[in-house]
Amino acid sequence: MDARLPAFRVTIRRRVSRRLALAALALLAACSSSPLGRGQLILYPEADMARMGAAAFAEMQAQTPVLRQGAKSRHVECVAAHVIRALPGGDPAQWEVRVFDDPAVNAFALPGRKIGVYRGLLGVATDADQLAAVIGHEIAHVTARHANERVSTQSLASSGLQVVQIATGTGSPAQQELFGLLGLGAQVGLILPFGRAQETEADLLGLDYMANAGFDPRASVTLWRSMSRVGGERPPDFLSTHPSSSARIAELEARMPAALRRAESARSAGRRPDCPR
Ligand SMILES: [Zn+2]
Repeated sequence: MDARLPAFRVTIRRRVSRRLALAALALLAACSSSPLGRGQLILYPEADMARMGAAAFAEMQAQTPVLRQGAKSRHVECVAAHVIRALPGGDPAQWEVRVFDDPAVNAFALPGRKIGVYRGLLGVATDADQLAAVIGHEIAHVTARHANERVSTQSLASSGLQVVQIATGTGSPAQQELFGLLGLGAQVGLILPFGRAQETEADLLGLDYMANAGFDPRASVTLWRSMSRVGGERPPDFLSTHPSSSARIAELEARMPAALRRAESARSAGRRPDCPR
């Protein structure tokens, strides 16, 4: 009997502390909301998320060659800089943008203001406005803290709240799991999907961002249409991890009148991006 008592006490204590933890988490979750007003579970300080993002970004650059000069990288940097400058307090110097020399039709963003664009995407996003739609979408994943939300939800589900601590140690299974949570697969080019609500939010917020920079928001619809045409036997990676093109186009169209007004006032204010390919 005596032997069982301590175990019993431990169980009680665990239950109580778990209940307290859940109550605290519920409070935290209630206090967090996305830029579009959606309630979010956000458990990690952004500084921790930024550290994880930087580690993952360094790993990506170690695995895949980066285009550092030339027309492609200049084009991507130019478009990104215009979108970033139109963000509240946006400073391109605080963001890192890289073009990966890889045929994947894809792009990604990481906490800590990191953006990756694959060379293959530039074959589908054929002008600056279309590229701005992708970059706006990726920036929105960062500003809306979608990675933090996913890591928070996942770590709560597995009741191991030490996810942040596994950022160190390259190549370990724990690190691979972390990269997966951040949206990066073990191999370059395999990008795991965010949830449907997050993807829609990135589309809508990204539309606002590109329009605020003076890009033509209608290019977002052109882009997703081209993406679905690329489809065929092997659809672009970016599509395979994102909502169906008809659903996303309908949502974009609904927000288009407001986006066109944003773009118009951006242009009146002198924001006329010029990013030659
Ligand atoms: Zn996305």
